[in-house]
Amino acid sequence: MMIIQMNDHCTSLDVARVCDQQERQGCMARIVPRNSGPCVVVDVAGDAARNAVTALPGVKNVSMTKSSYPLASREVFGVSHPMELAEGVRIGGGEIAVMAGPCSVETGEILLETARGVKASGASVLRGGAFKPRSNPYAFQGLGSEGIALLMEARQATGLPIITEVMAPEDVEWLAPHVDILQVGTRNMQNFSLLKALGRVDKPVLLKRGMMSTVDEWLQAAEYILVGGNERVILCERGIRSFDKSTRNTLDLSIVPLVKSLTHLPVIVDPSHATGMRDLILPMSLAALAAGADGLIIEVHSRPEEALCDGPQSLDLEAFDNLMQAAGRILSALQPREGKRCGLKVAM
Ligand code: PEP
Ligand code: MN
Repeated sequence: MMIIQMNDHCTSLDVARVCDQQERQGCMARIVPRNSGPCVVVDVAGDAARNAVTALPGVKNVSMTKSSYPLASREVFGVSHPMELAEGVRIGGGEIAVMAGPCSVETGEILLETARGVKASGASVLRGGAFKPRSNPYAFQGLGSEGIALLMEARQATGLPIITEVMAPEDVEWLAPHVDILQVGTRNMQNFSLLKALGRVDKPVLLKRGMMSTVDEWLQAAEYILVGGNERVILCERGIRSFDKSTRNTLDLSIVPLVKSLTHLPVIVDPSHATGMRDLILPMSLAALAAGADGLIIEVHSRPEEALCDGPQSLDLEAFDNLMQAAGRILSALQPREGKRCGLKVAM
């Protein structure tokens, strides 16, 4: 595979010349429109192809790779840069983001008290599901569009950007303008129609690892979004299925440093769905940060005993505050080595 990175100020003529040159040689060229400059992806191997294209106007860099996820790969794109999630909120490239909030949006009052609490403790994004992928059709399915309106009110009140799950491809276009980050749940990691729809929007996408997916499948799923032209994909490890039901899932923490070596995309950890147990959230959050995660997504509820969904794994506001303070201490300890910065409560 050949990845031709164009300059961000290249013209449409430059891109057309690159594509035409490839097509004259019988190769299929695919244009990936990106804010940081378009890419042309060509299914071809060998240095002859590379040499011919390098001198064309507008070409910044040409890489050959055997990777099945070239746009996601660190091999082609090198170091990670901080990714903007919303104004003033960044993740990756040394920036840590913590997303927190209830599993599902239930009432405006609970959402607001939770949002205010997590913000005070240093969270940088408010989470809340409005379209819930429940295993049982009779379980609470989420408030849908009403839940989105409540999330927007909580954003207005707190200034926190909002993340919510989108389950259906047809919901992507109307939902994207109203939220800051779109989440793909574990059950939809290989919903290719959904991934293609998300490739067409200019909003960051949090792509959870499928509970039965390999790292390679996960990165190829990310590639579906990237090849559509959406550069902002965040990966989230949320536990995989194993034989042992002592915890809800098995948190596959060792893949955090592994995936970070394979991709330039930010990687975060969801200890809530990984463990399903409130008491395990703090230690696993600290372990995730120590392993190099770029952030966390944590279920927090101002009244966990009343939660309609995932109460047993939800932290109350006090436990979340403790977690953030401990996270700050871990990050301070790592800082000389990792050079990380974050907006956590404890000064770095
Ligand atoms: C969620 O974060 O709300 C969720 C449903 O998680 P997962 O897709 O990881 O089960
Ligand atoms: Mn949940």
